Amino acid sequence: MILGCHVQMKAPGFVEGSVQEAISYQADALMLYTGAPQNTKRRETEELRIPEAQKLMKEAGIPMENLIVHAPYLINPANSVKPEVAELAVSFLHTEAQRTAAIGAKYLVLHPGFYTTADLQTGIETASKHLNTLPDLPEGLVICLETMAGKGSEIGFRFEQLADIMENLNHPEHYGVCLDTCHIHDAGYDLEHFDDVLDEFDRVIGLKHLHVIHLNDSKNIRGARKDRHANLGMGEIGFNALLKAASNPRTEHIPKILETPYVGGKPPYGKEIEMLRNGVFDPSVFDEL
Ligand code: FE
Ligand code: FE
Ligand code: ZN
Repeated sequence: MILGCHVQMKAPGFVEGSVQEAISYQADALMLYTGAPQNTKRRETEELRIPEAQKLMKEAGIPMENLIVHAPYLINPANSVKPEVAELAVSFLHTEAQRTAAIGAKYLVLHPGFYTTADLQTGIETASKHLNTLPDLPEGLVICLETMAGKGSEIGFRFEQLADIMENLNHPEHYGVCLDTCHIHDAGYDLEHFDDVLDEFDRVIGLKHLHVIHLNDSKNIRGARKDRHANLGMGEIGFNALLKAASNPRTEHIPKILETPYVGGKPPYGKEIEMLRNGVFDPSVFDEL
């Protein structure tokens, strides 16, 4: 199992600090935002301690593909109501793609967006249209559209919707998918039968397009379309279903990234990764944090 988690990226260590944090959890993958997820203020890449981070990853034996970047979630390429918002999003996404490449990462996770006051189909078409206005992407970079929970006017909560977006992209080689277990559970997919979910993914999108898995439990019942992450085993999906998803041989090569909530102000990732590696759930680990 390639296991990692969302880590911080902040002064003074920047990306080197992110890698250190991941290593402290015995992770062999990590995901970071290049700045605050809710805004577009960004540092110059020269300040981010990238060579130091890459050296540390090499020493730890973590391949560069296991370092994932997540675009800020305010980027909304699906906004047809205020196209200027989507245009701004796309120009920011362009700089984010360049930062991702400068870090040496390959995968940039992106939420496909919200249709706001339009409708689902318009949102889907608008997302492809705006992504097609992106200037040339760095060689080898793959933007991974994330499967969403379907809260509010969110698009991309059925595999068909992501397939529709992807079908209309001018540069399909630069796109793939990130599957979030909390989100697909909230969207109605049954994690108890992960092989069936993968079969459906394969039929609709194609498993070769799956590059990242976000491994989260959910606070809400299946189909609730809420998007509230829970710690592994503490939600409605349950530890065993998540362990089965994480250890499925068909997705063995894909990094599984935890985005579970802090407990009492402390990151739960070291404990959660340990539980997955041991295959044993122990709810008391969350009391000890
Ligand atoms: Fe996400
Ligand atoms: Fe996610
Ligand atoms: Zn989420």
